[in-house]
Amino acid sequence: MNRVTDFTEQELKEYAQSLNLCNECTGTLAEISGLNEVTYQRRSDTLCMVCSDVRGRYAQFFEQVSKELNSVVDDWHSFRIDVLIRSPPNLDEKSRALFQTLKEGFKREFKREVGSMIERSGKVFDPVNPDLLINFERGQLTIKRPAQYLEGRYLKLFRNISQATWVCNNCYGNGCAECNYKGRHFIASVEEFITIPICLLYNAERVVFHAGGREDVDVLVVGKGRPFVVEVVNPARRISDLKAIEKAVNEYSNGIVQITLIGFTDSRRIEELKRLAEVSTKEYRGIIKFFERVDLNKLVEASKELSGITLEQQTPWRVKKRRADKVRHKKVYSFKVEYVDDYTALFTVVCQGGTYVKEFISGDDGRTKPSVSQILGIRCKCIALDLVGVDMGNDEKQGL
Ligand SMILES: [Zn+2]
Ligand SMILES: [Zn+2]
Repeated sequence: MNRVTDFTEQELKEYAQSLNLCNECTGTLAEISGLNEVTYQRRSDTLCMVCSDVRGRYAQFFEQVSKELNSVVDDWHSFRIDVLIRSPPNLDEKSRALFQTLKEGFKREFKREVGSMIERSGKVFDPVNPDLLINFERGQLTIKRPAQYLEGRYLKLFRNISQATWVCNNCYGNGCAECNYKGRHFIASVEEFITIPICLLYNAERVVFHAGGREDVDVLVVGKGRPFVVEVVNPARRISDLKAIEKAVNEYSNGIVQITLIGFTDSRRIEELKRLAEVSTKEYRGIIKFFERVDLNKLVEASKELSGITLEQQTPWRVKKRRADKVRHKKVYSFKVEYVDDYTALFTVVCQGGTYVKEFISGDDGRTKPSVSQILGIRCKCIALDLVGVDMGNDEKQGL
């Protein structure tokens, strides 16, 4: 252990006093300072700031750990121990370094002592993928299941379902005349259809939903579906049967939202998903309604002209309240139309993630350039839109 040479004996006494070190930690302090002993008057109203007085009562502490572990109902085999100790504020540099030494020493001892006690009951220490997390934080012992992360894709087969739960901003979910006493703008959300059955299945504290990009309430998600990750926080059990989870979700929503799971992942995947959503390629199909008679040849010409271009999209009027007002550049790789009648056409567009497709059709009063409306010189509107494909680029190889 490092000898601490730049403290006087008096300074060490004051140090021990300020941290209210227990006998064991004071002993360690003396040892690493090369002194026989450090003595001071301990206060009885607070615990040792390094070990919360655990070092003097390991036997008693083991009993508490055993009791907690015995109350875990489901099968578990492996565990990890995490010790969190907050450093006191306002320490100068050398005092902080000394605290670090004491703290790390205690952490090692705690993990060794408590770990070997648990291992005697046939369990194994697994720092990477444990069944149980044993947390020791400021004298408090908590036993948790580590979060599980599931990755998959979802389909949304009915319109008028928001992606995120959209709580009424007039009543904050309590229900009012404005929201028809539903507490929300839309009766159901993809988020709830996925997280509620998973939360029940895992008997978890909560489930957090993260999607790669978003769709409007009136947009369907079909084809391969949109990628998502759910984070199951403090699950009471671990589930390895992905099919069972899929089934629970698909049944819960009566087929309105369907998921296919790819596998288990970790928290890093969430950021990756958000990043990839912006650069991914999306394919949509939809219906355009023209406000004047449209010429078939002109329509075909326009579709050629609008393939392989970069759009300039100022944040649309309809979302301006919720999103930063700025100009985005989005690529349209291909745009194909199919004539239905003089006022209607079907279309398929392949574009960059984050493109506002409805505005690409209507032009949004000139806020999106170019647009179908602008090229044809006819006012038009996208009256139905479905997301049919999400290509995450290189990521495809990794399973998404
Ligand atoms: Zn102590
Ligand atoms: Zn309301």
